[in-house]
Amino acid sequence: MARVFNFAAGPAAMPEPVLREAQQEMLEYKDTGMSVLEMSHRSPEFQQIIDDAEATLRRLYGIPDNYHVLFLQGGATLQFSAIPMNLMRTRHAGYIVSGNWSQKAYEEARRYGKVDVLASSKDTNYDRTPQLDGMPSQDLDYVYFCQNETVFGTMRREVPQVGDVPVVGDVSSCFLSMPLDVPKYGVIYAGAQKNGGPAGVTVVIIRDDLVGDGPALADITPIYMGYRLQCQKDSMYNTPNTYGIYLCGKVFRWIEQTGGLEAMEKRNWAKVDKLYDYLDHSKLFHGTAQPESRSIANVCFRTDDPELDKEFIAGARQHNIANIKGHRLVGGMRASCYNAVPDAAVDALLSYMSDFEKAHAGQVRSR
Ligand SMILES: *Cc1c(COP(=O)(O)O)cnc(C)c1O
Repeated sequence: MARVFNFAAGPAAMPEPVLREAQQEMLEYKDTGMSVLEMSHRSPEFQQIIDDAEATLRRLYGIPDNYHVLFLQGGATLQFSAIPMNLMRTRHAGYIVSGNWSQKAYEEARRYGKVDVLASSKDTNYDRTPQLDGMPSQDLDYVYFCQNETVFGTMRREVPQVGDVPVVGDVSSCFLSMPLDVPKYGVIYAGAQKNGGPAGVTVVIIRDDLVGDGPALADITPIYMGYRLQCQKDSMYNTPNTYGIYLCGKVFRWIEQTGGLEAMEKRNWAKVDKLYDYLDHSKLFHGTAQPESRSIANVCFRTDDPELDKEFIAGARQHNIANIKGHRLVGGMRASCYNAVPDAAVDALLSYMSDFEKAHAGQVRSR
């Protein structure tokens, strides 16, 4: 069975050279005589693996020395709690709610303090990035936003302008899709399984001064979730996801070897713009995100007929296309075009869409 064109939202397509390399090293990693899976996280070999992963990530993003890099577990979801627990020093934060992921983060933060919704696009079913209405209070502990809303296919290109308040960004689904201006963020974090590697690793990039003396809500913060401790222990307070970190390191290397984040961004926009352009001209399919808020990674689209959507999804496999079904909150289709999704996959999808549209020309309703 050949490998399919995988448009999964996460866990998602991984670069084939990375999988092959891992396959070659599966039984014996270098001259250790064992698999990375069998190796102590306290061994010099694993220390080299995690150090290399961090160093490569630092080069890719140009992460300044006053930022720590952590490789944690618990997914992006555990950070929904870790962020307020560590950063809510006065128990007052501001959240930009642009989709289900930032909504979940907001709901979690409310368990720990007062949370202002600074902007929301809920009224239009999160089809766009909501804009801030002026400068938020400078007394907030932090302002939180989700840069790319994976389910709704929207992305905010710029970091919100909030003066001196630290900005926390969930970049899970645009992690490594494009360069980020790291100094504009206080905390950047991402679950790896969208674009950075396998599920089970969460990368947290955090500015020194925000690590401070320990978690702001120290009395109730689980010890694992304290950023201060994790920074002191270099992500190895307990056993980390060793194999996941090894694979992330390989993905980071692959990005570096294929031109780095600027080259990645160009290739990614080229891929999704082909789809957006088709959607803008199609009489059958249309994109669900507002054009100015379109994602670099997740292209959401549909016909106006849920039955046709079903038929399109069901027929995809015959074209070697997998995981094209949209999230249940939005319906329709979603093509996640992460770094490891090749041009050929997008071309195959476009060709299927075009054939499908021709075959259903009689069923097109005017919109
Ligand atoms: C997938 C995703 C999450 C949740 O990630 P988990 O690792 O499953 O906890 C959070 N935020 C965004 C933007 C995501 O895409």
